[in-house]
Formats: sequence, structure tokens, C-alpha cells
Amino acid sequence: MRYYTADRLITGDSDGCVPYGGVLVDGELIRWAGPDRDVPRHLRQRSEHVALGPLTLLPGLIDSHVHLALDGAPGAMDRMRGATADELYALMLRNAAELLTAGVTTARDLGAPGGLGVRVRDTIRSGLAPGPDLVVSGAPLTVPDGHCWFMGGARVGERALRQAVRDQARAGVDVIKVMVTGGALTRGSTSWQGQFTAQELAAIVDEAALAGLPVAAHAHGTEGIAASVRAGVHTIEHCSFLDPSGAIVPDQGLILRLAADGVHVCPTISVRFTERWDRRAPDRLPALPALYRQGVPVIAGTDAGTDGAPHRAYVEGLIGMAQLGLPPEEILTAATSRAARALRVETLTGRVVSGLRADFIAVEGDPLRDVSALRALRLVIARGREVRSPFRTPGANGGRGDPAPQGRLEARSAASPPSPRTLGSCTVNPHHRRPVPRPRPGAT
Ligand SMILES: [Zn+2]
Repeated sequence: MRYYTADRLITGDSDGCVPYGGVLVDGELIRWAGPDRDVPRHLRQRSEHVALGPLTLLPGLIDSHVHLALDGAPGAMDRMRGATADELYALMLRNAAELLTAGVTTARDLGAPGGLGVRVRDTIRSGLAPGPDLVVSGAPLTVPDGHCWFMGGARVGERALRQAVRDQARAGVDVIKVMVTGGALTRGSTSWQGQFTAQELAAIVDEAALAGLPVAAHAHGTEGIAASVRAGVHTIEHCSFLDPSGAIVPDQGLILRLAADGVHVCPTISVRFTERWDRRAPDRLPALPALYRQGVPVIAGTDAGTDGAPHRAYVEGLIGMAQLGLPPEEILTAATSRAARALRVETLTGRVVSGLRADFIAVEGDPLRDVSALRALRLVIARGREVRSPFRTPGANGGRGDPAPQGRLEARSAASPPSPRTLGSCTVNPHHRRPVPRPRPGAT
């Protein structure tokens, strides 16, 4: 067993931030987590202690919308179309490793050709390759010549769509992805326009429910978002509120409906946004602030892999959410525990609590005060294992980053404990650092 301690522990549970917290890892699971002074002595004595000193421990991050089969550079879609299945499989594993070293311990892949998502998920789960635990769709359902038709998910009519859902379920997918509207990355496709009838969407959701699967709906146009809600999809991707002129016009009535129905929305804010946000016209700004204000459960995802959004830049998307006015606590929730619920993996991961998978990270500074602290990633633990040499996370300019730590992490402040200080919601008092042994009945 290993016991990690740090100045702050964000569990993702209702306790907010724990000063001088500890996480005890036993195999792939968290055996215990909480204030260091409360750790059961017999567990502590049997563990190797890793003192991280002035860092913050928090749940591993979740990217709710990635495309491992796309390489994140301009022209990604064309390169995917020209690649063989073996080339894409290798690329997907490489991108998965990149996500993991950026602190992403769970990711949802929402569209790769054929059965590649399932294959990559199972390779990582078997331990043959490093990567986040994956929740995967098959080829996105679309119409002939529709958005991403070349991934193999184009069908005509209710019968064929139902059959496609059954085929994907049999192949082992975790979620059905449907392109409710067009998308900018497919030539000839129109982002604001719907692709399916209400009956077809209802058939997809119904057939998925019979297979026990949720539906993730790609929807840019307002009509498509409304149609997705009526059909009863589980998550809405992008949710851009595009009108036919290309302007973003949030529909307040529809936003209230999203909030009332508790539909999770992944607005896919990525490094593309943070790099250009101050040059955006007001009618091109994402609808995220309006969604947040009305209480829509927002989850973090970056559409990683699409042009200009490399997988390693996950944290830049969270910083973009902060630029749009979301408070750090809301962003961290969207990136951890709430995302886990939306992906239906909340009993496995998303919080640092006893019994869940040991998926957590350590960063410098306090991300509850400033999410850009997540750029200074110092440790990634996935399924109980330390991920070596964390990636250099890019700065806002996409290039620079903090160097990975060399060698083993140590308690740098052990020799001179700091004076009491308040860090965001975490009051840190050096006298609490040392565990207080507490006699327990029957303990020797
Ligand atoms: Zn996407």
C-alpha cells in the first residue's frame, strides 16, 4: 500500500477541501482518504509514505469528449480518412497516453471509425498500453453525406438506425453517439441544420435504452438541441445554439428545459477557445455562461483531436471555462464528479473517496482558487499506478510548460513548516500536519 499526503486534498465529495489530507492506495483502489490526522494507524504503518508537501491532491480529470483517432493538428479529419485501421489504432493509443500524462484518468471517446474505440478501450484495460479508462461510442450515427459519414455510421430510416444501435451494442460500446445536426469539420455539412426526423431520433434513444445504453447527441443548431431534448438523449455535445447566420443565440426557454430535465451538456471548450477568445465577436462567444447561470449540469470536454485541439491541452479547456466566468469549484466539479455521473462511472471514479478507483493527481498551488494551477501537474495516479514523467502541459500560448519533476517527490517543506495560512476554501495549519496517534479500543 502507498500513502500519499499533501497540504490540500480535494475529494470531490461534500467536504470541499481538506487541509493536510492523505490518500491510501491499495492496489487499484482507494482504501482510505481524509485528513491525515485521522488515518487509521494500522493502515499507515503498513504503507509506504509519499509526502507531497505543498501540493494539492484532487480527483483524476475527466475529458467527456475526445476523438482519439484524430491527431489534433490542422487537417486531422483528412489524415484520419486516409489512414488504415492499424495506423488509427496506433494513433489512438498514442493519444490515450498523452491524455493520461496530462492528468486525464477517464475519457469518453465519441467517435472513431468502426470498432476501434472498443478495441483501444479493451487494450488499455488489459494493461497492455497506458491510457485513461475509456467510455467509448462506435461510429457516430449520421445520414449519407452527413457529418462524419466517413466513419461508417451513416444509415437511412428508423429500421436501419435501430439495427445500427443493436450492432454497436453487441460490439460492446458504452454509449451511442448521434450527429443530430451537421458539423463544420465535414465538407458539405451545415452545423445549424438537423439531420434526422423526430421519429428517427426517438427510435435511436428507444433502441439504445433497450440495450441499456445512454445517447450522446452532437447538436450545434438550436433546432437540433430542442429535438435532442424532446427525444430524451442523455448528454448534449457542443450545444452551440447556432442560428442559420452562424451567430450564437442562446435560447433561454430551451436552457431552462435543459436545467429542469437535468440534461448534461458538454460545451467542448478547448485550447482553441483560450487562444482566440479575446478576438471573438460577442455573438460568437459560447453559450456556456448562460447554461451555467440557469443551472444546467455542465461537464468538461474538449473535442480533443479535432483541428488545433491536441489531447495534451485538456487543462486549457478548463481555463477557457474560467475565462467565460465559471468559478473554479464549478469547473473542477464539471471535470471530475459530475462528469463521472454523466458518463455513468460515478461508482468507479470521479472522487477521491474510499472504495473508488485510485485515480487522482497532484498539482502545485490551489486549483480551487485558480484553475490554472492544474497546469503545474506533478503527479498522476491512474488505477493505483503512478504515471511516470507527466507531460509538459502547454501554457496559454500552447507551447511552454512546467518541467516534469525529476526523481521521487518529497516533502519539500518538511524541514520548515509554514505559518498558518488560508488557501481558497482550505485553511492550512502546520500543527495539523503531523498525524495525532489516537488509541483505539483493542488496538495494540
Ligand atoms: Zn466531437
